Amino acid sequence: MACAECPFHVPSLEELAGVMQKGLKDNFADVQVSVVDCPDMTKEPFAFPVKGICGKTRIAEVGGVPYLMPLVNRKKVYDLNKIAKEIKLPGAFILGAGAGPLQTLGFNSEFMPIIQTESEHGPGVNGSYFACINPADGGCLLQKYSEKYHDFGCALLANLFASEGKPGKVIEVKAKRRTGPLNFVTCMRQTLEKHYGDKPVGMGGTFIIQKGKVKAHIMPGEFSSCPLNSDEDVNNWLHFYEMKAPLVCLPVFVSRDPGFDLRLEHTHFFSNHGEGGHYHYDTTPDIVEYLGYFLPAEFLYRIDQPEETHSIGRD
Ligand SMILES: [Zn+2]
Repeated sequence: MACAECPFHVPSLEELAGVMQKGLKDNFADVQVSVVDCPDMTKEPFAFPVKGICGKTRIAEVGGVPYLMPLVNRKKVYDLNKIAKEIKLPGAFILGAGAGPLQTLGFNSEFMPIIQTESEHGPGVNGSYFACINPADGGCLLQKYSEKYHDFGCALLANLFASEGKPGKVIEVKAKRRTGPLNFVTCMRQTLEKHYGDKPVGMGGTFIIQKGKVKAHIMPGEFSSCPLNSDEDVNNWLHFYEMKAPLVCLPVFVSRDPGFDLRLEHTHFFSNHGEGGHYHYDTTPDIVEYLGYFLPAEFLYRIDQPEETHSIGRD
């Protein structure tokens, strides 16, 4: 499988904290960005299989929207244990946003990968969630992947943040009350793009929406049988929801595309109250509160990049 590697620009955490503090201030009333020790992520609300998001950080973009639409390409299925080897980090801890493993599930879903991949030390732990539309009532059905399934698959497209899963220093971002038009992730990404220009900076990690609600979508379990040729077609196919805090989000974002047809930001989320999906923006700017932990990635890996591309369905 084709895999391209490219180094990111990697500023110091102190410098990044300063840049993000300034940028987020334009969009949120109350902002505090600092460098802290990563909290123990084996604890709630994360309950990840590893303590942190530090060590040999990478971003991998696998496949892409062109494998989902206009029409699905069902051959585009992946194994995250293999992807960890492709990005030269067997045993990697992987977080992110993608499409669920249709090779196992037999249907399409929103996927929230939380995976410690296999290594010489052990068989790997799959703490992922997937969300689909409940056929009974059209609501959200969020499930822990490992309750029924035992593989490490995903399909079609995935934006992944990988690390050794170690404790260490991270950037903590607290942002409350949104005063500008941008969602939390777009604001951070555009801040980085403005400051670093043509030097691409990639970041990932996790954030909690502590208060408020968000607009989210879930893809139908059945792929569209007629081609999705515009954003309007895509929006008619997707199901949209308003979901409520607390939500744990898995963001991956890149300030600027260095020429690999990247999806510049992608965030999925899960919760302990049965809601999960693809994050668009909060719908409650007056009360929203974000708390996040982020790190810059050292390398970008572009795996199985589609040859034929388009720009629809990337919101
Ligand atoms: Zn998504």
